[in-house]
Amino acid sequence: MNSYDKGLMWFRRDLRAEDNAALYHALKSCRQVWCVFVFDTAILNPLLERGLQADRRVEFLVASVTELHERLRALGQAQGNESAGLMVHHENARDCIPQLAEALGVQAVFANHDDEPAAHDRDAHVLGDLAHRGIMFHGFKDHVIFERREVLTQAGQPFGVFTPYKNAWFKALEPFHLKTYPVQRYSHSLAPLRKPAVMPTLASLGFAPTNLAQLKIPTGSSGAQTLFEDFVERIDRYDDTRNFPAIKGPSYLSVHLRFGTISVRQIASVAYGMHLQGIVGASTWLSELIWRDFYHQVMANFPHVVEHAFKPEYDQIKFEHGKHAKELFNAWCEGRTGYPLVDAAMAQINQTGYMHNRLRMVAASFLVKDLGIDWRWGEAYFADHLIDFDLAANNGGWQWASSSGCDAQPYFRIFNPVTQSERFDPSGKFIRRYLPQLAGLPDAVIHAPWKANEVELAAAGLVLGDAYPRPIVDHAEARERTLLRYAVVKKPGKTPSAAAPRKPTP
Ligand code: FAD
Repeated sequence: MNSYDKGLMWFRRDLRAEDNAALYHALKSCRQVWCVFVFDTAILNPLLERGLQADRRVEFLVASVTELHERLRALGQAQGNESAGLMVHHENARDCIPQLAEALGVQAVFANHDDEPAAHDRDAHVLGDLAHRGIMFHGFKDHVIFERREVLTQAGQPFGVFTPYKNAWFKALEPFHLKTYPVQRYSHSLAPLRKPAVMPTLASLGFAPTNLAQLKIPTGSSGAQTLFEDFVERIDRYDDTRNFPAIKGPSYLSVHLRFGTISVRQIASVAYGMHLQGIVGASTWLSELIWRDFYHQVMANFPHVVEHAFKPEYDQIKFEHGKHAKELFNAWCEGRTGYPLVDAAMAQINQTGYMHNRLRMVAASFLVKDLGIDWRWGEAYFADHLIDFDLAANNGGWQWASSSGCDAQPYFRIFNPVTQSERFDPSGKFIRRYLPQLAGLPDAVIHAPWKANEVELAAAGLVLGDAYPRPIVDHAEARERTLLRYAVVKKPGKTPSAAAPRKPTP
């Protein structure tokens, strides 16, 4: 790495001052480094135009960016620099970064990789503009343990199946990959801000408050550390608890991994250490982090997945369309399908912006395989409503559920929403939390209220079709329709295949 007099660190999905690859390299290689975060109008304005004024992600971002500023300030203060901190802009990042870099007189801009297609596009534009101004751009891996083409098959191709990917991931792992970047070692390079930092408010960005504070979702890197410490105490039970939405089983770190308020190296290295000690829960959880890497490399190497099925023949499937399909879709979005576990899952995402992993699988399967709706509709709904929305993981999850993705659930395996409910919410605790109108039903029928007899319904004070809908489809019939619908992918002698991977970028 060259040495520079002045540099600019551009934070994006890495909102932490600790163990941050680009920040570390910027501070190490420059005499003075300014730090910036841009509330990008190219991302925020379309949300406002679509009426999504109350967006928990924006509120999470405002709180986390404010904490990042405080952390950088404290790092500077520890070095006797009273005015270090974060510059925050509310502009189109494509224009803002090159202009700011030139105005500050920096020789290089540092950022961590973001492999979403729109981010690649933005970065290519920024890089070109910077080059035009004679300024360098340096990108670093930070968001995942292995990225892009770092883990390949023996034939040098990206993986499309998880288990061999995971085996190769472990084989490739060296202590370096889990090592922390000691940012504080070079914090003397943080430059004093030229003007006092002004943190935006939700209102100044044009957004309205959400229920984030009532939900007590911890924000910023301090919030992430609190969640992680809490999770490590129960990680040994993860394998047993992770599938039951009524239980505090998972880590709830997804939003922090999404925005980089926690380092994946930090948490993977703790999980890996426990995995080596034979703690099964830690091994299972580490596998989830590897799924995350897996889907990120799928998106980087097969970018067609963003619009199309990973397996091209699955794009031939004719999903429902027209007015009836819209009505079915709206019922799913609003939790009015008549299947309690699906409706409780949709209530969870609508009320909190989070949905338990088991329920994401059940709700996604129900939309595609019970209602016959294109997985892309559900993917888009999750993208708008999940606080942890991550293009790679969301796309991977939807393509898994619709059987069109890499290592997806076979098309003929169709979740039964009632048996899933009986198995993973046996006492109906989760259903009762989100569907209080069903609270009085006995456990035996809460998973399928239409099976309740008149006495049970009367005792629960429930009138089906009034306080709670009757099922909008019959699961057994829907299953048969789905098998017919998917028959187009079952051509004799033809094995479903992936599209060719993208050629390596220079
Ligand atoms: P934990 O169980 O504690 O897992 C730890 C971390 O591992 C998660 O935070 C996440 O970063 C990663 N992870 C876990 N499972 C997966 C997985 N299957 N694929 C990729 N990464 C995983 N995850 C997102 O982060 N953003 C999404 O937009 C998203 N959309 C999904 C859509 C569908 C249809 C499905 C089936 C899954 C989706 N997932 C998504 C994966 C998973 O449901 C969430 O990561 C998980 O529920 C988040 O909760 P947690 O942090 O408590 O998870």
